[in-house]
Amino acid sequence: MSVDCLFCRIISQEIPSDIVYEDDMVLAFRDINPQAPVHILVIPKKHIPTIADLEDGDQGLLGHIHLVIRDLAEKEGIAEHGYRVVINCRESAAQSVFHVHFHLLGGRSFGWPPG
Ligand code: 5GP
Ligand code: ZN
Repeated sequence: MSVDCLFCRIISQEIPSDIVYEDDMVLAFRDINPQAPVHILVIPKKHIPTIADLEDGDQGLLGHIHLVIRDLAEKEGIAEHGYRVVINCRESAAQSVFHVHFHLLGGRSFGWPPG
């Protein structure tokens, strides 16, 4: 927990959010500024600023997050047509919240390469 981290404050529910899934390791909630019909942020409850700060011991956590994303995509009805999972890391990728988060985006078609 980092007191000045927005997503840590969402985890502690000090800041309200539209939570779609929670367990002891992760929280998933709808993005406040959705970029697609489905836009969910999946975050570890452990405060990790960026994916460049991951440690060897986080391997199980990362695997778990991917299974949560798989299940959420199914539940949200976007698994069949497909979806995009995005992680922005640091300045060049325009990361704006420094607590690791996976964007789960679906419900429309996406271009490639990304902007
Ligand atoms: P980043 O640019 O760091 O990859 O993504 C941060 C995301 O957090 C953005 O998509 C932004 O809309 C979302 N976000 C920022 N503040 C809040 C908030 O207070 N609540 C929710 N639900 N999402 C937020
Ligand atoms: Zn945090």
